[in-house]
Formats: sequence, C-alpha cells, structure tokens
Amino acid sequence: MVKASKIWMDGRFVDWADANVHIMTHTLHYGLGVFEGIRCYECVDGRSAIFRLPEHTKRLFASAHISQIKIPFTEAEISEASAETVRVNGLKQGYIRPLVYLGAGSMGVYPKDNPVRVAIAAWQWGAYLGEDGLTNGIRVKVSSFSRNHVNSGMTKAKIVGNYVNSILAKREVIAAGFDEALLLDTEGFVSEGSGENIFIIKDGAIKTTSLTSILKGITRDAIIRIAHDKGFVVTEERFTRDELYTADEAFFTGTAAEITPIREVDGRLIGTGKPGPVTKAVQETFFDAVKGKDKSYDDWLWYI
Ligand code: PMP
Repeated sequence: MVKASKIWMDGRFVDWADANVHIMTHTLHYGLGVFEGIRCYECVDGRSAIFRLPEHTKRLFASAHISQIKIPFTEAEISEASAETVRVNGLKQGYIRPLVYLGAGSMGVYPKDNPVRVAIAAWQWGAYLGEDGLTNGIRVKVSSFSRNHVNSGMTKAKIVGNYVNSILAKREVIAAGFDEALLLDTEGFVSEGSGENIFIIKDGAIKTTSLTSILKGITRDAIIRIAHDKGFVVTEERFTRDELYTADEAFFTGTAAEITPIREVDGRLIGTGKPGPVTKAVQETFFDAVKGKDKSYDDWLWYI
C-alpha cells in the first residue's frame, strides 16, 4: 500500500492515518467527483520539479466545471497546496493526487447542497506499467468494453465514476494475461488505454487519436510538442484497430504510464516487437525534459 506522512484536506494538513471521510460522502455512493494525477521528478541538479502543474490544475477546474462542481479554492491555491504536499512529505519524486468530492448531505442522485471537499495526497510511485514495460514495451489487448460514449460519460473530464469503465477493461485484459487494456470508442475506432492516450508510427509519420472520445492528456500534448521539435508531422485523427496492428511502432502516454512502448496488441507484434527508434527518441527526450536535463522544456517544470 502507498503511504506518506500527511494529506492536505480542505486547507490544512492531517496525518495520513486520520485522512478519513464520512460513509455518507456523496461521491462514494454515486461517483461524481473529479481528480488529477500529477508527477514530480527529481531533477539532474538535485532539485525536484512538478511536471506541468498549472495545466493539471486547470484541467481539474475544467473537470469540475463540466461536472457543475464549484471548487472552494482558486487555481493558484490548489497548485500551491499540491507543491506543499510534496514538500511536507519530504518527497524528492512521486505522484500527486488532488481529489474534489461531494461530502455528506443530501442523499439520492441530486446533490442539492452537499459540501465540496478537496484533498491532496502525494506518495512515492514507480513505473506504473513496470520498469520492464518502459524499457521493452507492454502487451496490450483490445477490451470488450467500449470507451464511454461521449454523450453518456464526459470524456474530457477526469470524473471519478468514469474510471469504472477503465477498471472493467483493465480487469478483463489482466485476467487474459495482458498488461494493459485498449478501449475502442462506441463506433469502433481506437480511443485510449484505461489511463493513457495512444500514438502510432507508420513510415516515419506519427498519429494519435483525435480528441473526440479521449481525455486530453497533458503527456499527449507534451509528446506532440517534442515530436514537432524533432521535425515529425503529427496528425490527430481517428484510426482503426487494424491500422494499429500494422503500425511500425506504438506507445502509450500518461502521467502514470509516462511513455510506455507497446510491443504487442491482441497477439500481433507491433513492428519488430521491440520499442522502435521514434518511440525511443521521444521517450528519451521526455525523460530529459521532466528531469530538467533538456532546458528547452524548462517551462514545463514547477521547481519546489
Ligand atoms: N486517458 C485517461 C483515461 C487517463 O486517465 C489519463 C491519465 N490522466 C490519460 C488519458 C493521460 O492523461 P495525462 O497525460 O494528462 O496523464
């Protein structure tokens, strides 16, 4: 189990063991709450930096806006509290989890005047899909569960309840012996992983899914900039699973998953079955950027 010393709750730090909520917490019953996942890296100069903190905070507020939740703090306050949570726990690197939820009050689906609560936790977290996955790539399976339809789940919002869809898909493919799930949208086009966006490379051109049914990943955006800087053309459009099967390379992007190469999908090797040169190049630059080694991406780093 993950653990750290303190958790920020509604404006003050409480001990990890005391960071409890009432069982009548509305979000616990119905799933309307919003959250973020943010990474902090130890940089080459020994300092620590949070990767794209203002963008993550902005997305948290956008998710809340979509969900009609009014966060009782400003964006600046949430960003500062996120940084402070890393500091207070003495973390050099780790993962930060701001969570906005509806507290106890009215029951029933309509949260009339339930209080909006905010918590921020931070803890040590290694490679989400394993060190071996980062180096050698992972085995992916298309899930039988479709990504939420754009008019039933709000896919641009990181809403707590949206992740039931991800958990169903992930459990299904892990049980089948794979590492990660790929979900198709309700029309059958490639959408995203259970917690990652996807890129494919064919004949030197990079493609990622259009924003239609996916979460607008901050790592996805970073990779698009890195790829442009390397002179690649990146197109954003829908593609099919067989286009993925025949890609030369493929990789997932996400805060937790970072840049994880995909070596196999549904029993078909992707390219040679090993991470390809484009994947390796963007992955290397990504890690140089987050660790403050490549100064051209310093605007992404919030030093603490
Ligand atoms: N899609 C989903 C469903 C996710 O949960 C995540 C992780 N937040 C992503 C994509 C990747 O987004 P980001 O790069 O901002 O972490």
